[in-house]
Amino acid sequence: MDREGAQAWVPSTRSVSTLAEAARDCRGCELWEDATQLVFSRGPAGARLVLVGEQPGDQEDQSGQPFVGPAGRVLVDALDRAGVDRSTVYVTNAVKHFRHTVRGKRRIHEKPGVGHVTACHPWLEAELAIVRPDVVVCLGATAARAVLGRAVTIGAVRGELLEADGSGPRVVVTTHPSGPTTRRSSRGARTKGPARAGRWRVAGRAARKRRTAPRGSPHRPTEYGPRSAGRPASEAGARGQPPR
Ligand code: SF4
Repeated sequence: MDREGAQAWVPSTRSVSTLAEAARDCRGCELWEDATQLVFSRGPAGARLVLVGEQPGDQEDQSGQPFVGPAGRVLVDALDRAGVDRSTVYVTNAVKHFRHTVRGKRRIHEKPGVGHVTACHPWLEAELAIVRPDVVVCLGATAARAVLGRAVTIGAVRGELLEADGSGPRVVVTTHPSGPTTRRSSRGARTKGPARAGRWRVAGRAARKRRTAPRGSPHRPTEYGPRSAGRPASEAGARGQPPR
């Protein structure tokens, strides 16, 4: 299916609320047709930490707010465990309308396709260019593809601090809150939360560290470059080097 993409609807602005207002009219792909409404974002435009999810769920579609359903409760718990003040975090999705199929009276979540992620990407890019966070946490593979511009294997990069070559935010990839929440501890018992919280602490620490660097410092990103992000910090060259 040919999709025009959202670019034609994205205004030139430095305001997230102006973006959100404009996005209500977006017809960049077909997902708006069966959704109740657009679900844009929530959180302060000056946030140092941005969370990117996949798409709104059923409850989000009805309320117009991101992460208010079961996944949102898991997310809040993970942030609390990691000591991250949730009111300081900006949350958004890779795709802004709810993709689903209808079975009887139920609406069943359907993963957005690569074409939907690509079509909706201009919104995410515009948001990140305004917010200019220090750290972006990608919740799941769809969010990672949207932010990094390529497919990644979650297990291979989970919790790792990726770097955007000094020109953008650091990126952490983890599982989506609606995904599995348990792991086997070193003692063999099934545990919930700590593994996820550990990854959140990585992101929270990175955001706090960067927040202390003064504006103009080489330790602060000066330009957002999501398509250049993705190399682990340990492998990245000197800051200020152009992306390879
Ligand atoms: S999902 Fe994104 S690109 Fe598609 S109509 Fe909604 S806002 Fe536009």
